[in-house]
Amino acid sequence: MKLYSTNNKDLRVSFQEAVFNSLPADKGLYMPEDIPSLDAAFIRNIQQYSLREIAFEVAHTLIGDDIPDHDLKAIIADAINFDAPVRFLDAETAVLELFHGPSYAFKDFGARFMSRVMGYFSKQGDQLLDVLVATSGDTGGAVASGFLGVEGTRVTILYPKGKVSKVQEEQLTTNGKNIRALEVDGTFDDCQALVKTAFNDVDLNKALRLTSANSINIARLIPQTFYYFWAYAQLKSQGSSEVVFTVPSGNFGNIGAGLLAYKMGLPVTHFVAGTNVNDTVPRFLQSGSYDPKPSVQTLANAMDVGNPSNWVRIQDMFHNNLEELRSMISSYTYDDEQTVKAMEELYDKYQYIACPHTAIAYLASNQYRQDYPGTYASVFLSTAHPCKFPDAISQEVFAKIELPKGAEELAGKQKLVTEIPVDYEIFKSYLLVNN
Ligand SMILES: *Cc1c(COP(=O)(O)O)cnc(C)c1O
Repeated sequence: MKLYSTNNKDLRVSFQEAVFNSLPADKGLYMPEDIPSLDAAFIRNIQQYSLREIAFEVAHTLIGDDIPDHDLKAIIADAINFDAPVRFLDAETAVLELFHGPSYAFKDFGARFMSRVMGYFSKQGDQLLDVLVATSGDTGGAVASGFLGVEGTRVTILYPKGKVSKVQEEQLTTNGKNIRALEVDGTFDDCQALVKTAFNDVDLNKALRLTSANSINIARLIPQTFYYFWAYAQLKSQGSSEVVFTVPSGNFGNIGAGLLAYKMGLPVTHFVAGTNVNDTVPRFLQSGSYDPKPSVQTLANAMDVGNPSNWVRIQDMFHNNLEELRSMISSYTYDDEQTVKAMEELYDKYQYIACPHTAIAYLASNQYRQDYPGTYASVFLSTAHPCKFPDAISQEVFAKIELPKGAEELAGKQKLVTEIPVDYEIFKSYLLVNN
């Protein structure tokens, strides 16, 4: 597999280089030089295969010989060790549940696969790989559990004090081993600024081998294609052949992976992006002018993104052509009040407790069906378990949530966390002293 930069199509780097660098120096994004098609017979018979078999076929087709089959199979078996079931709420409403991994959010797919690929490419005798990550909640938990115990790696997570939920904090701070948590007395933006400064610090980069677990890493995008194929396989075995996916979107990595799956030959009729009031993409699809704004805080806070970093990739896949984009992607936007109402409706109508991100996808999928009725199966993606977002759910309903396996043990585990102020020199000396 060779990759170019969306800012320089003449550039070519190896998969390994793209994985360790995350971003090309020209600040574009890495894209495969050509997007290979999956074997047509495989797609025709896809309902015969398991999630892991599908994952291997897709990853192998994309990555080629950069990871030998035997090793790639082992990486997938280890990374994708949980299911992504399609559940029908009624005859025409289906939800693809992506929260059955260890951090109860879809980011487990990306983080678990990427961590194992980085571990695989880190040869024995290499300097320890130091992964720095700033999180507003969901990314950190997925990265922590993804890298836990992966040899040759060490993770430092920065999160804003008092601004993540109880379950999220437990997922960040109870790992031990090669995972360290820093509670920063500031905001998510402060955490991000500290990490950014560290990456640009020449001194520090001499002492440590730093890398980011950034959501734009190509090794996080690839595994997110797996569950689109897997959902299609499940629908096909139920007799559906046309499908519309609705994806709750922030940085547009998730839906970007769906579009990559489509470009590889997955027969999808249309994609719908649901956003909160951070509506840069829906405004763009409407007006044709891309006009990013500072992010606004909402209940669906994992989607509070004013300038979605993966959008460039999507534009690239559609040749920067607005009409081509519009023919395959629709987008709708919702405020907090509508989100809460949708969560209530899901509960009243289906006794289904959804997180706010999922509720936005539900609204957008209903809206699209109303605007464009058809015979397709309509599937919206559930990106996180509701237990991670207590502030968005009434106490009465929250009390009824069935906690996922492991959530109770998590609460009993010892917290290991170091508190730091928003001060780069203190952060830097923490990294150097604890090396
Ligand atoms: C990260 C996240 C999203 C947004 O996904 P993108 O790939 O950034 O569009 C949606 N829901 C949840 C729960 C998330 O953690």
